[in-house]
Amino acid sequence: MKQEPSLRLLRPTVPTNLSRELWQVAIFILIAVGSAATTLRAQGLLTWAGGPVVQNARIVAIYWGIPDLDFRAQMDRFYSGISTSSYLEWLSEYSTVSLVPNRSGQIIGSGHFGGSYVIETKGSGNVETTDIGPTIDHLIHIGQIHGHNANTIYMVHFSSKWKPYLGTNLFKFPVGALGRAYHASYASTFTHRTIIFAVLPDQSVYPSCSIGTSRLDAETNCASHELIEAITDPGAATIIGAFLSEGIFQNLAWQMPARDKLFNPWEIADQCADQYAGRIKTSSDSQDTYVVAKGWQNKSSSCVVSSPIGFADGVRSDGAGMLHAYGWAVDPNSEYSQIQVHLYFDGAYPYGTGFITYADRDRPDVNSVTGYLGWHGFDFSIPAQYRDGKEHSVYVYAIGVNKGNNSPLGTISFQ
Ligand SMILES: [Zn+2]
Repeated sequence: MKQEPSLRLLRPTVPTNLSRELWQVAIFILIAVGSAATTLRAQGLLTWAGGPVVQNARIVAIYWGIPDLDFRAQMDRFYSGISTSSYLEWLSEYSTVSLVPNRSGQIIGSGHFGGSYVIETKGSGNVETTDIGPTIDHLIHIGQIHGHNANTIYMVHFSSKWKPYLGTNLFKFPVGALGRAYHASYASTFTHRTIIFAVLPDQSVYPSCSIGTSRLDAETNCASHELIEAITDPGAATIIGAFLSEGIFQNLAWQMPARDKLFNPWEIADQCADQYAGRIKTSSDSQDTYVVAKGWQNKSSSCVVSSPIGFADGVRSDGAGMLHAYGWAVDPNSEYSQIQVHLYFDGAYPYGTGFITYADRDRPDVNSVTGYLGWHGFDFSIPAQYRDGKEHSVYVYAIGVNKGNNSPLGTISFQ
């Protein structure tokens, strides 16, 4: 992972009075966006409203104010690990490939970590919503933040001396009061860039995302919540210039359709914010187990941290005339569960002939690569009718503990 030198904060242009008045009106709408208020959640499925999603998230961490060095290293490591993990991969089901009318064909794929920056700021004070997007845009403009593209999401962590607010000085409230954190987009009328960002208060001072006693757990809980919402609904709150655009409610992507727009949260992680957070592992190193917010999964109608992971390794002969299809499968939502594996012969589900086995065998290599404990190997003895010397194929699926949360593990051909 790369770290960038510190940057000097250059304050953005102060909005005009007119802008501030418009902002004052608009902020009432923004209140609900991205803030995980503890209100009733909507029931049903997320639906796509035609707006953009972030297809291959390029995650950049911004530390506003001098961060604790350990904290910066921990969060950089978290973003680096999470960006290529199954925590983001399962969001592919919110691609818009077959959907109409416009922006269909957006595919949510894996992400990557684009490094981190420190914005040096002296003293202490408040940071308003309208400070953030223009500052990032300006630092890109003068060449101090590199590699910006339309997929970039800036995860902005404020040091304990800087208190982020939602709004401006006419109407604002501290993050942590009504919501835990928020995400928004800033559309620059000068550079025509769109800056997607999340605002994350220091959890050691404003513990709005506290879970247990660990500061890091609170930080990753909050950051992951805003990250998956910024991927699946980046344009919900779009700021143009110094105020919310007329485009508010026109750039929506994945949200609950039946909503009270003002005070009920309705994005992917809001639907699960009243549940305990889950955990995800990004390597076998014990420090790479992270508390993460669950997201609403349409296909299982439940809150998950991931779809099952695994691989169909192959078919082998055991020397006694038997053939075995083998591989591994684990559901990160339930690390120790020995989940079902379904094998469909000579046709993918639902066309082939299906068989059930369990991932219940010791596979230390899987434990050491993934970090997930328990026994997760499967070994299926191929029935006699397929040992006829002819070419066959078997389509393998991992069956998650949440009904409907299944993953294809690959296809094996054998003779
Ligand atoms: Zn939210």
